[in-house]
Amino acid sequence: MSTELKMVQPSTTGDACTYMWACAICDENETCQKDKEGHSRWLVAKRMERIDYKILVMSNKGGVGKSTVSTNIAVSLALKGYEVGICDMDIHGPNIPKMVGAEGQRLKISTGGGIIPYQAYNMKIASMSFLLQNSDDPIIWRDAYKFEFINQLLGGVEWQDLQYLIVDLPPGTGNESVTTIDLIGEVTGCVIVSTPQEVALLDARKSVTFARDSELPIIGVVENMSGLDCPHCHEHIDVFRMGGGEASARDMDVPFLGRIPLDPEVVRQSDYGEPYALFHSDLPTADAYHAIANQVDSFCKKKGSLVSVATRSPFKKK
Ligand code: ADP
Repeated sequence: MSTELKMVQPSTTGDACTYMWACAICDENETCQKDKEGHSRWLVAKRMERIDYKILVMSNKGGVGKSTVSTNIAVSLALKGYEVGICDMDIHGPNIPKMVGAEGQRLKISTGGGIIPYQAYNMKIASMSFLLQNSDDPIIWRDAYKFEFINQLLGGVEWQDLQYLIVDLPPGTGNESVTTIDLIGEVTGCVIVSTPQEVALLDARKSVTFARDSELPIIGVVENMSGLDCPHCHEHIDVFRMGGGEASARDMDVPFLGRIPLDPEVVRQSDYGEPYALFHSDLPTADAYHAIANQVDSFCKKKGSLVSVATRSPFKKK
């Protein structure tokens, strides 16, 4: 059962903390000494403790299909019956809302002051794009705002009880990724997305090194855009070559999760806001997404049995 956050009135005694609405779920607000950052961290930790598995989807390069993979593995996990959320942390190119048909939507604030995530295809979704006035605006972020925004997405959003939170990181290994990892604390694992050509593989190797340096468990590498079966003549074309993702996973001694073929339908359906894996079950590209989601699920189950919703610690004042 969920508990809505309640607004508390500022203290009249001068002793209570009364930091925004989050005080309503704190059992220390009479004596709290936290500063703003301390409160933000505390709130993120409270949100995250209700989520069993936090999965980061990352790449060192933009445009390799990270958001598409995030969306489709999330959909595949939701199809299995899990409660799933997608956190679109790609603050420079927040495309997840478009991919789930939620472009132009705005998030609402609950009576308790938290942000209510958007619901689409049985998943909870939060993205910076929901907060923009105009989705065509370029985003120029000073570091302080980035930190604030990342905090909002992780701690401000009422994710409530989830089995999976899929976090679509921005490309690269910059401050946004480091801050996200630091705030989440215990990341269950990461999926590294690459394409097969040499330049992309160099980047994938950097992601593996970054994950290792950050002590992130690596679930494995995905080779996206791996070959195209021409829809007209059915000839197979290796547009970006093929097999490099697997070779680099082997070289770096990390698991290889599989190849996702290039498929023009993926582009068309993403643009229509229809996650591909939800609408196809028997095509190679859909099979690839489901197979990757299954491996993510097996990895997480091996790390620890799913905590049932009934036994999870409630997000409320004791
Ligand atoms: P990133 O998040 O890495 O920047 P996106 O997920 O936004 O990349 O994908 C970039 C573009 O490539 C999108 O138009 C998407 O529809 C397309 N795309 C991704 N994966 C595939 C695929 N397997 N086949 C065809 N198009 C794809």
